Amino acid sequence: MKSLCIFCGSNKGKNGSYKQAAEDLAKLLVKDDIALVYGGASIGLMGILADEVLKRQGKVFGVMPKSISRKEIAHGGLTELFVVDSMHARKQKMYDLSDAFIALPGGIGTLEEFFEILTWSQLGLHKKPCGILNTDGYFDHLLKFLDHMVDEKFLKEKNRNLYLTESDPKFLLQRMKNYLPEPEAKWINKEDV
Ligand code: AMP
Repeated sequence: MKSLCIFCGSNKGKNGSYKQAAEDLAKLLVKDDIALVYGGASIGLMGILADEVLKRQGKVFGVMPKSISRKEIAHGGLTELFVVDSMHARKQKMYDLSDAFIALPGGIGTLEEFFEILTWSQLGLHKKPCGILNTDGYFDHLLKFLDHMVDEKFLKEKNRNLYLTESDPKFLLQRMKNYLPEPEAKWINKEDV
């Protein structure tokens, strides 16, 4: 894994453990020589993450749509900041630059970006690992809801394996490095038709 895309809050959140998790993950990326790809902002957990990687001489690639970069929240010290035309172009660029994806605690922007990537995975458009860092149980309700989707037959049981979840960044990163996508189902099952 050479580059990892992280989606996370443009706010810091209430609990100091979210900041700590962002810093811990940043340290691990630099230690393993993995470049960070993220939304390019200097604010919230996004800014904390980027600052921590840069402080340790790691590489950080930001991707920001023109409309947001004008609001003076773009990070000024990145290895490279890509300014793109739209939010859609941003997601595509982040996808192109990255070998894997992690959602850290965040709000609707974080969820929207992560679930689009996960949807592409579900559709077989890519096989890059996707992880959820469940710091302090922040995503417990979401994970329960995903179980509910499986119970109610809106999410296939096997597609629950498309996202890895851990509360410790070290374990999550390790599992993502070892991730082997399941081979394509060779035969169509009756229940899939
Ligand atoms: P949220 O989780 O709602 O705070 O949104 C965070 C995600 O949406 C990040 O991964 C960013 O890519 C994007 N985003 C939301 N707000 C901003 C912002 N002010 N500046 C840059 N990116 C943002």
